[in-house]
Amino acid sequence: MMETCYLGVGANLGNRRKNILLAIEKLNRIKNTKVLKASKLIETEAVGGPKGQPKYLNGALKIRTALTPSVLLKALKKIEKEIGRTPSVRWGPRLIDLDILLYGDKLIRTKYLEVPHPYMFKRDFVLEPLRQII
Ligand code: AMP
Repeated sequence: MMETCYLGVGANLGNRRKNILLAIEKLNRIKNTKVLKASKLIETEAVGGPKGQPKYLNGALKIRTALTPSVLLKALKKIEKEIGRTPSVRWGPRLIDLDILLYGDKLIRTKYLEVPHPYMFKRDFVLEPLRQII
């Protein structure tokens, strides 16, 4: 069964826009998965983490997918890893960050996955792009 999901995307290292566009391409290459809408990308201050971090580009995506939540999460981690390993860009944990914000109308609370994403309602950098496409 196909579900409609919303993903959060962020990057604060390397060519941020390129990393996000590459993530969208890779999502579209997953079997039975299509990116339907992408928000504008907004530049935001890093929240938490070490001081003096570069700014983020953040956005949100609407996708349709047949992947289950846990398989989708694995696919997102694989994409993060692939983009992190791209030669010529400095490795860093935030070359790309992909989060599941919403998965249909499911409520999920496991050790590995919480949906709706637990911080999304507190973070303008998530909500603002999401509002554009939802
Ligand atoms: P991070 O990439 O540092 O933001 O955190 C990734 C970890 O958070 C993953 O290994 C997931 O197991 C966990 N996680 C929990 N809920 C979610 C979610 N809704 N989307 C993505 N990762 C999640």
